[in-house]
Amino acid sequence: AEKILEVKNLKKHFNLGKNRVLKAVNDVTFHVNKGETFGLVGESGCGKSTIGRTILGLYNKTAGDVFFDGKSVHTLPEKELFKLRQRMQMIFQDPYASLNPRSTVREVISEPMEVHKLFRTKKEQNDRVYQLLEEVGLNRDHANRYPHEFSGGQRQRIGIARALALNPDFIIADEPISALDVSVQAQVVNLLKQLQEEKGLTFLFIAHDLSMVKQISDRIGVMYLGNMVELTESESLYENPLHPYTQALLSAIPIPDPDIEEARERIILQGELPSPINPPSGCVFRTRCPFAMEICTREKSQWQEVENNHYVACHLYNEKVNKQKDSDLVVN
Ligand code: SF4
Ligand code: MG
Repeated sequence: AEKILEVKNLKKHFNLGKNRVLKAVNDVTFHVNKGETFGLVGESGCGKSTIGRTILGLYNKTAGDVFFDGKSVHTLPEKELFKLRQRMQMIFQDPYASLNPRSTVREVISEPMEVHKLFRTKKEQNDRVYQLLEEVGLNRDHANRYPHEFSGGQRQRIGIARALALNPDFIIADEPISALDVSVQAQVVNLLKQLQEEKGLTFLFIAHDLSMVKQISDRIGVMYLGNMVELTESESLYENPLHPYTQALLSAIPIPDPDIEEARERIILQGELPSPINPPSGCVFRTRCPFAMEICTREKSQWQEVENNHYVACHLYNEKVNKQKDSDLVVN
């Protein structure tokens, strides 16, 4: 598969003054293939949105690299970054907050086209607005109304129309359904899927739990406290979660069958999410991990490919890898 996005050892730290540093993103590496949906999952405050903004160049990076279509986003001259931004768009969690309440739907959707001077005439631009409204399941009569006149789901459709205005090929959807009613969530997800198919879009889909991400993602990365702790194909993540945090996230999703629900073993998270200003030594997850060992306090767990295309950062699998190496030695 062809990569559209590569994030390499990305760090984003915020200096809070008085020697306090918020390590929002710590050494995160992953890539997104053209045309796929990559799910980025973790509790709020784990650094998902910061990654999204740093990818788009809205934040400077602290270290590492972001490549979009082979170009290093953070070293591009301003002019080229501006052009590249046409191709990378964002959908936000709360469409109402991201839409100017004093602008009509027409103005909201037209704005990026005006900024990038996409059309020479108002007529062309308006036709494009109507086309976009229809593409997201609204119609041209909605153009002169205001965002607050619409339901949450409709407002998210307006946000999607705006994100599509510049014909992007990559969209970061930052919790686009978290604020919506469950019944509306599926509709918005279906719309995104349909648009992806029609337009060959690539999605980075950010979410705080795994329930909806499973159905829409090809691959999933799980984040905890600024670190990526597990990454693999959607199916293997659900069938064979390796990291204790992923196991906990999965066991938090209710299973409709009461017999299975009762019989299964849950992994319950202990304690609170630590502050990213003062993260635990060693493995960042150790203060909440039911399997924490002595080494977890001393040493950071290394990011490694434990199975084919299945990456995890956890000492439990170091052991497994080390044992394997030992037994190889014996056999040889
Ligand atoms: Fe738990 Fe240790 Fe693995 Fe961290 S490295 S997830 S503390 S077992
Ligand atoms: Mg967020």
